[in-house]
Amino acid sequence: RELPGDPETDLVPREVLHACYTRVSPSVEVENPQLVAWSHSVAELLDLDSKEFERPDFPVIFSGASTLVGAMSYAQCYGGHQFGMWAGQLGDGRAITLGEVLNSKSERWELQLKGAGKTPYSRFADGLAVLRSSIREFLCSEAMHSLGIPTTRALCLVTTGKYVARDMFYDGNPKDEPGAIVCRVAQSFLRFGSYQIHASRGKEDLDIVRTLADYTIHHHFPHLENISKSDSLSFNTGEGDDSVVDLTSNKYAAWAVGVAECTASLVARWQGVGFTHGVLNTDNMSVLGLTIDYGPFGFLDAFDPSYTPNTTDLPGRRYCFANQPDIGLWNIAQFTTTLSAAKLINDKEANYAMERYGTKFMDEYQAIMTRKLGLQKYNKQLISELLKNMSVDKVDYTNFFRLLSNIKADLAIPEDELLIPLKAVLLDIGKERKDAWTSWVQSYIQELSASDIADEERKISMNSVNPKYILRNYLCQSAIDAAEQGDFEEVRRLLKVMESPYDDQPGMEKYARLPPAWAYRPGVGMLSCSS
Ligand code: AMP
Ligand code: MG
Ligand code: MG
Repeated sequence: RELPGDPETDLVPREVLHACYTRVSPSVEVENPQLVAWSHSVAELLDLDSKEFERPDFPVIFSGASTLVGAMSYAQCYGGHQFGMWAGQLGDGRAITLGEVLNSKSERWELQLKGAGKTPYSRFADGLAVLRSSIREFLCSEAMHSLGIPTTRALCLVTTGKYVARDMFYDGNPKDEPGAIVCRVAQSFLRFGSYQIHASRGKEDLDIVRTLADYTIHHHFPHLENISKSDSLSFNTGEGDDSVVDLTSNKYAAWAVGVAECTASLVARWQGVGFTHGVLNTDNMSVLGLTIDYGPFGFLDAFDPSYTPNTTDLPGRRYCFANQPDIGLWNIAQFTTTLSAAKLINDKEANYAMERYGTKFMDEYQAIMTRKLGLQKYNKQLISELLKNMSVDKVDYTNFFRLLSNIKADLAIPEDELLIPLKAVLLDIGKERKDAWTSWVQSYIQELSASDIADEERKISMNSVNPKYILRNYLCQSAIDAAEQGDFEEVRRLLKVMESPYDDQPGMEKYARLPPAWAYRPGVGMLSCSS
């Protein structure tokens, strides 16, 4: 069997067989690397004192140019279904794990440099990352965390001082762009594709799927290792004795269900906040239910269920906003197929995991939408009518929900005053549409007044789930434009604003504004897969 390779020499792109990873050191070239920004809360996770970030060698270490003492760096092997097609081996083509930090709470955090040079998995590409995409990944990782959405984190962003050639640029012209590196942090970067690759290689490698599953359960789902009958994880999935799925008798089945559930819960949160991932290939699906790989992502501005931020996703729109819940299920089906191929779960257990995905998604999505509207119980008709209206009038998703909390549960408000609290988001609508909205607000007030929650109390609770600040693509772009001129202040300011997305931040109102016209130019709202 082939052993993981020599860290100094094994950078040659190749198929890496019978192994989950390859030892490899960062090979990126740097020239006076600079620290652009760092996250206090991630530093805290790692027990890193803020003084560490002032060390002159900090950017050198976190660009990968000098080795971290005690690190055994490696790149992971994984495969994936890209846009519905099996793509074979992909792997960490530009991400290199430095190692794990065991913090004072005995949590393990993996540190990974993205853009630190070629690995055996780089295929035809250069193993590097540009400042533009690194700023997006850095900011969005932290913005998502602050929104309360599970995600890989970002410790810091450094520039390499070198330029990177990118030919797939939005104006069609090749361009040299500043190189940069994000240090990503997560308890694990394992993806569905990490298991798929081994199952795809035939019988001989099925034991690797089992070994990796054992590893994952042991480290990341330890409660499943010793589930006992008393945990009553036995479920009746239909008629007759055959249909009982007993999760206490097979830890792999319990794990499959766990992965399905955390994925469902993640996707429900994306839908709630209007996040579109853009590239939901199975190699970008974390087994811990984390948002992973920030490429051409986008938050909804004007509500449009068919919105996709990814130019590579046109015209099919496989990964558009409204498709994400179904794609999550499709991906779970690939994952359970892998576990079935390795004989870790049977068909009944696989079906049950998929069923749990559906149930968990609906439960969580309904709960989230109910909270967003400040309701006491889910009201399907009211919510679907709202989303329909929002899509007809292209209403700003984030600002609408934030303003909605200003509506008073008062049935005596005259009809012509009902839309006043929403006027900043109901722009340019004609008489007919005004009537549709008025009628919706009437039903909404009717529903609100059926409960005895005070307006002020409801407003506080709604504002705690409806963010005021989201990382709109145009805000990222402003920070990128300044950073490309050497001014990193805007990156830091955006990070700060996005760290408290639910708070009214005096003086920061401009970050909650609707996108300007230039936000819709190519390369701002729409991006390509690879950068
Ligand atoms: P993504 O579409 O970002 O999920 O990337 C798909 C695959 O392409 C992964 O295996 C990445 O590691 C790899 N990849 C993307 N960009 C680069 C790059 N600049 N150099 C090497 N590999 C890359
Ligand atoms: Mg990826
Ligand atoms: Mg990517």
